[in-house]
Amino acid sequence: MDNRRTFIKKAGLLTAVSIMPSCNLILPKKKEKLGVALVGLGYYSRDLLAPALQLTKHCELKGIVTGSPEKIPIWQQKYGIAAKNVYNYQNMHEIANNDEIDIVYIVLPNGLHKKYTIIGANAGKHVWCEKPMAMNVLECQQMITACAKNKVQLTIGYRMQHEPVTQQIIKWRSSKPYGMIQSLYAEAGFFSNPRDPKNWRLHKELGGGAMFDMGVYTLNASRYVTGLEPVAVTAKQYSERSAFIADETTIFDLEFPNDISATCKTTFAANINTLKVDCENGWYQLSPMQSYSGVRGTTSDGKTLSPFQGNQQAKQMDDNALAILNKKSPLVPGEEGMKDIKVVEAIFKSAANKSERILF
Ligand code: NAD
Repeated sequence: MDNRRTFIKKAGLLTAVSIMPSCNLILPKKKEKLGVALVGLGYYSRDLLAPALQLTKHCELKGIVTGSPEKIPIWQQKYGIAAKNVYNYQNMHEIANNDEIDIVYIVLPNGLHKKYTIIGANAGKHVWCEKPMAMNVLECQQMITACAKNKVQLTIGYRMQHEPVTQQIIKWRSSKPYGMIQSLYAEAGFFSNPRDPKNWRLHKELGGGAMFDMGVYTLNASRYVTGLEPVAVTAKQYSERSAFIADETTIFDLEFPNDISATCKTTFAANINTLKVDCENGWYQLSPMQSYSGVRGTTSDGKTLSPFQGNQQAKQMDDNALAILNKKSPLVPGEEGMKDIKVVEAIFKSAANKSERILF
């Protein structure tokens, strides 16, 4: 929530202001950079988001929420974070009283996204939440409701939708340079050999498994490439290594309107990273399709879409900060994250029922 609304809300003046347009309230100066608090200081926060927040123009790293006290001095020293902007999971709600923090960015295991999104929203802060949005559609709805009730934005961390080469092929769904899309193939995964058998990514409880982690890239790509919602899905899931209690590999087929089909594969057993779109007069592909840099396009008539030279996460966070500052809808709102989770739920159901065809 911006400073003005926080002030007005705290002072209980919302009604008075709306009926007294000429009142002499002295409003705090509009911030040039919104303050972000990272919630969860694991791999993605440490290696990607915090460094990217040193490059952003419209937001900056101001706070942290962590359950690991040993990380606090390291982060404070590296990023100059004030002691008053350091929280843990028990006192995170007190962020409500901190005007330096405008946004909480939830970078926790997937099974914790809902809980901390709601705590952030109830504290009056805008919420950026990592993908996948949550464990099921009900959780997604609860997150959307909490953010709407508190009049804060909810944005899901689907970075590819902010990535310029990906945005170019998204535009092709209307300009159709190769004619109508007929089918697409998407694969995203990496070889993982986890040392800790308790790692949350291996287990179902906190939203582990390849589908939630990497499969959502292929699903989201199928939806943004076509601009359509699937009408049916069939899926199979399996784990060849016993450590992978949640799915090690998921393969699913999506049926879209107009006879468009998508085949998607995700796995923790191989490095795969390609999106190929077949159209009536040619094809285009991105390879890699979801890496942090180097996303590159090629086409059937020999064109190349050269990789973006900027920092993906910085662009994503600046796009999202500008949406808040300009009071515009974010590029990837909670509703978009929920559309994927609806399909993910059907994928799990289909796989559990011998690849049953699930209709939407
Ligand atoms: P991670 O395991 O490295 O970090 C998770 C953090 O959560 C750790 O700091 C851990 O201490 C903390 N945590 C708090 N409560 C916990 C609990 N009960 N169990 C386990 N950990 C707990 O994970 P990560 O790779 O940083 O992923 C975090 C989120 O970011 C996930 O939702 C993931 O999908 C997402 N992510 C997104 C991208 C992207 O490109 N958009 C990339 C990586 C991860």
